[in-house]
Amino acid sequence: MIRGRTTREPSAARRDLLGLTLKQLEEWFRELGEPAYRARQVYNWIYKHLVTDFAAMSNLPLSLREHLAREATIGQVTVRSEQHSKDDRTRKILLELADGRLIESVLMLYPPLRGSSARATVCVSSQAGCAFGCTFCATGQMGFERHLSAGEIVAQVLHFARELRAAPWRARGLPGSQPIDHITNLVLMGMGEPLHNYDNVMQALRILNSPEGFNLGARHMTVSTVGLPQGIRRLSQEGLQVNLAISLHAPNDELRAQTMPVTRKYPLAEVLAACQDYIAATRRQVTFEYVLLAGVNDSPVCAHQLGELLAPLKQYAHVNCIPVNKTAADYRPPGPEAIRRFRDILFQHGVSNSVRAERGDDIDAACGQLRTRFVAQQRSPLARSNTAEPARSR
Ligand code: SAH
Ligand code: SF4
Repeated sequence: MIRGRTTREPSAARRDLLGLTLKQLEEWFRELGEPAYRARQVYNWIYKHLVTDFAAMSNLPLSLREHLAREATIGQVTVRSEQHSKDDRTRKILLELADGRLIESVLMLYPPLRGSSARATVCVSSQAGCAFGCTFCATGQMGFERHLSAGEIVAQVLHFARELRAAPWRARGLPGSQPIDHITNLVLMGMGEPLHNYDNVMQALRILNSPEGFNLGARHMTVSTVGLPQGIRRLSQEGLQVNLAISLHAPNDELRAQTMPVTRKYPLAEVLAACQDYIAATRRQVTFEYVLLAGVNDSPVCAHQLGELLAPLKQYAHVNCIPVNKTAADYRPPGPEAIRRFRDILFQHGVSNSVRAERGDDIDAACGQLRTRFVAQQRSPLARSNTAEPARSR
């Protein structure tokens, strides 16, 4: 299903409050001649009540509400298109930024499993486009447009938080399971490279982590990176308990360079040295993402090489095997047998691993796909009337 919807008129001239920490908001209020507690009230309205409109902030004087409406915004993004998978566990939106750029965000809903509660994970973009050009990635094929501001990153999370608050989700076919009405996890696995936009990403994570604000635990956040050594080391010093995922996707430089041009700048040895430093500083496990491309990087030889590469990290390394999602590029995911064999070899090397379940198999859930299709539809009047064809999710 594709739907168009407008949430608000973007305005570049007004101050976007979603990009500010509580401290910064208090400073801005001081500049307006308002006491700090007013900033805390506004913060509360934005992150606890999830309002989008200053008019709703009923404990603020009317004159202040009107002033804020003229001077500030609560997010500057507009939903241009939306897709829900048939089972409604994957929802994807295309957002237009104030300057007309397009980005994607995804909500993934997981039913309660073996006594654990249900999860609602938002996958956000950190940039419009991406500079790293991985060959299997739809975003990588667009090139780099610009970094997202902290407010544009926060806005993606709040969009889905409001949606769930207004209509809590309950897994179909699981009578008695508790509905879920809030975001439980955040992954930076949408468009863009988060560590290339380091400061804005960290600012957004701190805003979302703030107990006075959205209050999402850092342990429920995951930064996924193509593997930028300086960024990995910097992250290890932040004192923020976020999870780190490294996009490895090949066990040696020669093969990796074929799909991930960044390898020429940062060979695997440098990426892994940064991971060793990260582990030494944080004592936290690192996830290594491995997109399985049939006939390219899924052989037993590759599995053995990967096992040897990661075995020295011992219990601190976990591999997440991800059957590739089809994009414009001509890659195929391996069959279940090849995946099983690959994983068994990793286990033989003592490397823990899992396989990512496919999601939203009837929507364009691999990041970059919805935008690619949307832009094509805008260009072709004939295609505009068509709905989405089946695609696979990341
Ligand atoms: N730039 C960061 C984060 C965004 S991509 C990074 O590369 O890690 C998030 C994850 O999706 C990465 O592991 C990326 O390699 C993977 N990915 C990209 N294209 C994919 C595809 N077509 N199928 C499956 N995973 C894909
Ligand atoms: Fe960029 Fe990540 Fe896509 Fe590579 S996989 S092109 S780093 S978004």
